Amino acid sequence: MAYKIDKDACTNCGACAAECPVQAIHEKGEYHQIDPDTCIDCGTCESLCPAEAISAN
Ligand code: SF4
Ligand code: SF4
Repeated sequence: MAYKIDKDACTNCGACAAECPVQAIHEKGEYHQIDPDTCIDCGTCESLCPAEAISAN
């Protein structure tokens, strides 16, 4: 299963999108969102999110 961003916890910093190896993360209004069909479950975004807003789904 793909990783998921908690939109209420996300501060929209963009750090995850910048480091995702497959560009699966995009800004969506006031938060960022992961495309589950593109995510390869590498875990990079989860480890770097300063708001701890990302978790395995
Ligand atoms: S790194 Fe975390 S807080 Fe920053 S945009 Fe990504 S999910 Fe949101
Ligand atoms: S787990 Fe890896 S591939 Fe999936 S969104 Fe996060 S950084 Fe991108």
